[in-house]
Amino acid sequence: MTSVEDQQRCPMCGAGLEQTATDFLAQVKGRVFVVNEVPALECPHCGHVDFSQEVARTLELIVAGGAAPSRRTEALVYSWSEALASSQKVSKTGHAH
Ligand SMILES: [Zn+2]
Repeated sequence: MTSVEDQQRCPMCGAGLEQTATDFLAQVKGRVFVVNEVPALECPHCGHVDFSQEVARTLELIVAGGAAPSRRTEALVYSWSEALASSQKVSKTGHAH
């Protein structure tokens, strides 16, 4: 049986967390890990997302290389100062309107 007491509370605002699914992203030792459709608890009030201990443990396992990836994707990596400089260059040369 599940009761209201079983429902986890948001650590930020205390509202009841709702079961949802989210994308988890992590960068570990220069490698980017993306896990789609991770079961998560989301606060409908402030948007805080929490993972259960079991899910968090599995995510740790995945980023440690303990699971086979479904597919690979391209990651675009930016250094903030270089991205800023190149974005200003792009907007100066652009005559879109
Ligand atoms: Zn909250």
